[in-house]
This record gives sequence, structure tokens and C-alpha cells, in this order.
Amino acid sequence: MPPITKDEAEGTEYDLFVIGGGSGGLACARRASGSYGAKVGLAEGSPQLGGTCVNVGCVPKKVMWYTADVADNLRKAPYYGFGDEAAEVAIPKFKWNYLKKKRDAYIKRLNGIYEKNLVNDKVAYHQGWASFVSKNEVKITKDDGTSYNVKAKKIVVAVGGRPTIPSDDDIPGASYGINSDGFFEIEEQPKRVAVVGAGYIAVELAGVFHTLGTETHLMIRHDKVLRTFDPMLQDVLGDYMEKTGVNIHKNTNVKKVEKTETGLKVYTDSSDEPVEVDVLLWAIGRHANTEKLGLENLPNIELDKQGDIVADEYQNSNVEGVYVIGDVAGKVLLTPVAIAAGRRLSNRLFGPEKFKDDKLSYENVPSVVFSHPTIGSIGMTQPEAEEKFGKDDLKIYNTSFKAMSFAMLEEKDKQPTSYKLICQGENQKVVGLHIIGEGSDEMLQGFGVAIKMGATKDDFDSCVAIHPTSAEELVTLR
Ligand SMILES: Cc1cc2nc3c(=O)[nH]c(=O)nc-3n(C[C@H](O)[C@H](O)[C@H](O)COP(=O)(O)OP(=O)(O)OC[C@H]3O[C@@H](n4cnc5c(N)ncnc54)[C@H](O)[C@@H]3O)c2cc1C
Repeated sequence: MPPITKDEAEGTEYDLFVIGGGSGGLACARRASGSYGAKVGLAEGSPQLGGTCVNVGCVPKKVMWYTADVADNLRKAPYYGFGDEAAEVAIPKFKWNYLKKKRDAYIKRLNGIYEKNLVNDKVAYHQGWASFVSKNEVKITKDDGTSYNVKAKKIVVAVGGRPTIPSDDDIPGASYGINSDGFFEIEEQPKRVAVVGAGYIAVELAGVFHTLGTETHLMIRHDKVLRTFDPMLQDVLGDYMEKTGVNIHKNTNVKKVEKTETGLKVYTDSSDEPVEVDVLLWAIGRHANTEKLGLENLPNIELDKQGDIVADEYQNSNVEGVYVIGDVAGKVLLTPVAIAAGRRLSNRLFGPEKFKDDKLSYENVPSVVFSHPTIGSIGMTQPEAEEKFGKDDLKIYNTSFKAMSFAMLEEKDKQPTSYKLICQGENQKVVGLHIIGEGSDEMLQGFGVAIKMGATKDDFDSCVAIHPTSAEELVTLR
């Protein structure tokens, strides 16, 4: 069913109106309407539903990670007796554009499914950009300039964020670069790229390029990648990326970008020579989509320094009846967090009595980095645990090894695996788990359940190992 029209919509009053059809907004709206029968409207400004995750985030990114993983496995093949040993790294030609078309078609199918889900759950879908007229009224403006207003008893802001890119005033030529949204528009594989940034998106996209054979430069402001992660993960991943040929330019700031006939010259403060690439990708952070939200019509609404809307633990903003979920609330920017916050908010606002205090716990949220190899992380990093509990109250277990799937490979081609378990107090409660190595992405979820339940080192040890796996090392740590 297409989005509802101006005539159908004008003057409607909803129990709940959701601004933003991404991970959080869709989940919140569908729960309120589909499960509890509330009258719900949702506005999405872009022509596609699904938001960042589906269109320019998790989903197409994971397709690219799988693609790179296939390349990694093809490199393993000769060691397992396939093909010619001399052709060690001669993997078949990769057709970026072929894959892009298939990936785009997959995303389009998902967009359609999201639209159907809204219909099934009786959420009124408004295609247009929403802005506050007051705390109970929203104006929806379409790209053709037409607009109409709707009223709502409660309004949820779920507008997410978008990538930050430096201005040409700050860094001349910066706008020759693309951001993570632009990554998904690349039609043909570039031969040379520079990715600027040290966060998980920078590391993931640099990893995809490099694994698929693009000459990859990663430019980071300090000397480590993934600076908010446990230091073990920073070291193991950074060292392995460098070992496999990613050019990590440390303590480096981009000063200027010049377009030439052969590409882009990226000038930095760490070298006199520019780095010449075909694509420059900024992955230096994201900021909330709050500028065109009409927040001037909610004069007292509280924003933090980053421009995120401040929400309390129940997702309430400081304006009564206005709620905030997902990336725009600035806390743990992950799809499942936005979804869980949205569903729990609807449980609380429209659900049965047992949900009257429902809220999302932001503690022990597991997260994964789709690097090569993958990373999983839950709980406190070692520095955070040391600061909170003191070194003497902690016992740290570490192990490093080469996963068995590399046993047939030469030492130089084996990926690293390292695990760290951080335990606290006399009963050794697990307060942090950090893993890097093949399969870490799939491995973390189950351990996450245990840690959420308050598992101790004894609980880990009491679980019989599954052999031969990498995960068994986590229940046999000494
Ligand atoms: C490259 C990349 C990779 C990622 N990988 C992962 C991953 O592997 N795992 C993971 O969990 N997370 C990942 N994320 C993060 C994840 O995508 C976000 O945390 C998640 O999408 C946040 O959901 P949201 O609902 O808050 O916002 P969004 O999904 O961004 O949705 C917000 C929606 O609101 C719309 N909107 C904005 N303003 C208005 C307005 N005024 N009116 C109407 N509509 C409006 C936008 O068009 C958008 O569709 C990734 C992000 C990026 C960029």
C-alpha cells in the first residue's frame, strides 16, 4: 500500500506519531499499533523505509563483509588442496558492480517488506519530512514542497543520524571525499582508497577494501584503531591489519585534498608527500538529524553538546509527551538498541500493567566489529574495570592462539585469535569479555546471555567445552 495522501492525512489525530522510519521508529510504531491497537502514524522523509541500517549501514555493509570473507576463504583454498599451489593468492576476478547490483536489489526487497509490515500492523505511513509545530502537532513536508499537519497525543523522535564530513573551510578539498553513505554508491572497485577514521565503521570499510584487493590507507588521528574498545582488541587488530598490508598512517590529520587527472592527492601533517588515491572516504563520526526538526517550536527541549536530544532512562525527553529513541538519543548507536528501546517504550506507553515500568538496560550490550578477523565485545574494557573496581579486585584471563581452520596454512597466512575475560570480586563475576578471531561475531551472542545473567568464572568453567572449536577456549581459561 502506498503512503497515505495529504487529503487522507490532514488533521488526523494519532495516539502516537513516530518521526523516522528507521530501526527504532519502525519497531516502536509497529509494537504500539500491531500489538496494542493504538492509532499510530509514522513519517519517513526519504523514499525508502528502513533507515540507516537497511539502506546504508548494517545490512549492505554485512553483504560486503561476506564478500570479503569469500575472498579470504578463496585464499585458503590452495592450502586445502584445491587448485594450483602456486596460485596461492590468485583468486578469481571480483566483479564489484555485479555484486553491487545484487546487493541493491536485496535492499530494495527489504524496503518493500518494511512497507508491508507497516500495513500489516495498521501503521499509517506518511512519506515526508516531519517537523514539530508544537509538542502535539507535526508538519509533514514532501519533496515537492506540499505539506500538511497532523496531531498526536504522544510523539516519538527516531530520526537517527548521518555521517559527519569536514567542511572545505576546515580542510580544503574535503568535499572531494565521500562518506559511508557514498561507499554504497561506488559502482566499480577503486584501485586505491584512503579511509579517514579509527572507529568501527572506518575499520570495517577499510577491511572490506583491503580484503578485496584495493590498496588501502587508513588515516588515524592517534596511534591505535578502535580507541573506545579494549586495548587488546586495538593491538591485535591494528597489528594484523598492518601485517596484511593495510597502510595505517598514525598520528595523522588530513590537511588538504587536491583533485588531479589521476585521482585525489591527500595531504597530511605526518608526511611531506601526499597519498594519491581514487577514493577518499571520511568515517570520522556521525551527528544527529535534528537540524530540520522544528525544535525551535519546542523551546525548552534539552540537547547535549553533540546536538543529540537528551533522553532519560525511559526514553522521555524533558518535554512531556515527546520521547527519543535510537541514534538521536546518542547512547549506544546500534540497531538492536534502537529497536529494543522503541519496543519497550511502546510496551510502557500502551502495553499491559506488567510493562508499566518497561525500559531498556544499556548495561552489557554486546557489540561486534565486522573486521577481518571479527571482534566481539561486551561489558567493561580493562581500563574501565580497573578504574571502577581497582586492579586488585580484578582477575584477567587472556589467551592467544591460531584457530584450527588455519592449521593447514602457512604461519604467515594465519589470522590471530585473542580472548580476554575480565572477572571481578571474590566470586569472579564476569564484567567484561573481549574476543577477536574467526567466528567471534557469531560466538558473542550466547556468552552475552550468560554475562547478562551475571555469570561468574565458575559458571564459565562448569560448561563442558565443545571440541574442536575456538569458543571452547573461553570455558577452559586458566
Ligand atoms: C556504515 C554503518 C554500518 C553500521 N553497522 C551496524 C552494525 O553492523 N550493527 C548495528 O547494530 N548497527 C550498525 N550501524 C548503526 C545502525 O545503523 C544505527 O544504530 C541504526 O540504524 C539507528 O537506528 P535509528 O532508528 O535510530 O535511526 P536510523 O536507522 O538512521 O533511521 C532514522 C530515519 O529517520 C529519517 N528521518 C530523519 N529526519 C527525519 C524527519 N525530519 N522526518 C522524517 N524522517 C526523518 C531518516 O531518513 C531515517 O530513515 C551502522 C551504521 C553505519 C552508518
